[in-house]
Amino acid sequence: MFSDIPVDVSPMHEGERIRAANMFVELAGPKSIGAELVQVDESVKDGEYKVIGPELSDMTKGEIYPFCIKIDIKGEKLEKELEGVIERRTHDLCNYVQGFMHLNQRDQIWCRVSTEAIDSGFKLVDLAKALGILFKEEFPIIESISVTILTKKEDVEEFVNKAREIYSARDERARELSDEDVDVFYGCLMCQSFAPTHMCVVTPDRTALCGAINWFDCRASAKMDPDGSIFEIEKGEVLDDVKGEYKNVNEIIAQKTQGETDRVFLHSVFEYPHTSCGCFEAVAFYIPELDGIGIVDRDFSGETPLGIPFSSMAGQCSGGKQVEGFTGLSLEYMRSPKFLQADGAYERIVWLPSEIKESLKEFIPKEIFDKIPTNEEATTISDIKTFLKEKNHPVLERIENTNDGEEGIEATGEIAMEAEPTNQEFVPVASASEMSVPTSGGVKIIFKNAKIYAEKVIIKKK
Ligand code: SF4
Repeated sequence: MFSDIPVDVSPMHEGERIRAANMFVELAGPKSIGAELVQVDESVKDGEYKVIGPELSDMTKGEIYPFCIKIDIKGEKLEKELEGVIERRTHDLCNYVQGFMHLNQRDQIWCRVSTEAIDSGFKLVDLAKALGILFKEEFPIIESISVTILTKKEDVEEFVNKAREIYSARDERARELSDEDVDVFYGCLMCQSFAPTHMCVVTPDRTALCGAINWFDCRASAKMDPDGSIFEIEKGEVLDDVKGEYKNVNEIIAQKTQGETDRVFLHSVFEYPHTSCGCFEAVAFYIPELDGIGIVDRDFSGETPLGIPFSSMAGQCSGGKQVEGFTGLSLEYMRSPKFLQADGAYERIVWLPSEIKESLKEFIPKEIFDKIPTNEEATTISDIKTFLKEKNHPVLERIENTNDGEEGIEATGEIAMEAEPTNQEFVPVASASEMSVPTSGGVKIIFKNAKIYAEKVIIKKK
């Protein structure tokens, strides 16, 4: 089937990582532009695979090039609503191609080609062919397919703009509904190939954290293939409508994650936040010193106020982990009326990259917009604190109330203790805004602003 493709094509290559040392070229990504788009098109010519712009043989080793994947499909049973879900498979299917690495989705794609693939004679047109065959195999309802790879800067720019309009139209449609209007949510397991304990819960008010799949996309996908990786979850009993906790969601997530996660709050970063695979567009993170929440997106290359960049933070909370104080999310979820509603929504947001803030202008309440600092106004906790005070950010009031509240905590049976490391020979090895230790006898110990000190750190090679 792939006999005229000079590299192997198989799911076994999915985990392949191409590091700078064995990279021939990088395509799209943070230092260039690119996008992928699947569209139903009645005029598609089946089996047409082409590259418009420089082929790999015209590229220079070590350089970065603009790159788009345009996929047109046709089929009697194909609905436009399926475009988003089919498009999301581009990620996995590209990664079946040995020597080709694909990350992210939509206009965030970031790809690399290995030097070994080039040595084998691999070309971008082979990628197009492989995708054509794989998509037809994965989705038998696709009767005709054409794949066009664009690498010419002007074409890529034009295509990215067009793709962004289409992504926005898909996202806007999903805003027509809210969680209360529907009886079913959806689960998505597509990312379990690399995050085995992750299941996305997609609701009208919570677009999937990859930003590429909304409730309508899931509905179309589950209708097409009820036994596929996207499936219905009866909404059932609401345990907490502010936090977004549902009995059925908890049960299904426990089943699908082998019991690793058995409670999820859809609209909070605290206690039981939604798990994160690694495809999220942004991360919400708790800043204990300010009792507020910061957001950092994938495109932000600087350090967050926690002193680490997006990549390090993503590493700490991805892979299907449920980490209190952190949650991966889509930028579209930040437009949702239920965005972190249990935590105070935008009244709790104390830091954002400036580009994200600007793009959310219509969705951040007017009265709070100017009170949220960005990387342009503040980069350290102390600068943020000064900014919040100057602008009278509502989180200040919250800190006061929380302090009052904590004095009263003992009355409810909880004990707050302050701890300071005293042995200066110990060195800090990790810190966490909040972490809990499982105990028996109905007691839960929660460490706030925990810093872990160790006398000795031993790093062992496995
Ligand atoms: S991030 Fe979630 S919704 Fe998106 S593909 Fe992965 S599991 Fe599915």
